[in-house]
Amino acid sequence: MEWSIDKEVIQYIMDFSKEYYPREFAALLRAKKVGDEERRIYEVIFTPGLISGKSSAIFNPLHIPHYFDVVGTVHSHPSSSAEPSSKDLYLFSSNPVNIIVFYPFCDDCWKVYDYRGEEVEIKVNLE
Ligand SMILES: [Zn+2]
Repeated sequence: MEWSIDKEVIQYIMDFSKEYYPREFAALLRAKKVGDEERRIYEVIFTPGLISGKSSAIFNPLHIPHYFDVVGTVHSHPSSSAEPSSKDLYLFSSNPVNIIVFYPFCDDCWKVYDYRGEEVEIKVNLE
């Protein structure tokens, strides 16, 4: 399975992170299948269960909508660290793709992890 994400989704996440800084935000990612091998992340979903603070952004799992095409999470770090914390691993749950964006939210200020916190390769769709 190959993963890709639309450039404009990353752009949107970065813009939102800058605006929300120094608070953290967290949201869900939706993906659709493209052919047999690729899944393409095309949308960010904000949920009402989101708890946000200066140093924490977590979901109440009861409030996560059960869209069948939710593949993971995205959240921001107000620091320049992209390391997933133990709380992050809890947030990742069993999702295959989880994005952490970090300060100063530049074009390359993001990393992708699977549910174990291992880095995931992802392609960026430019159009
Ligand atoms: Zn985190």
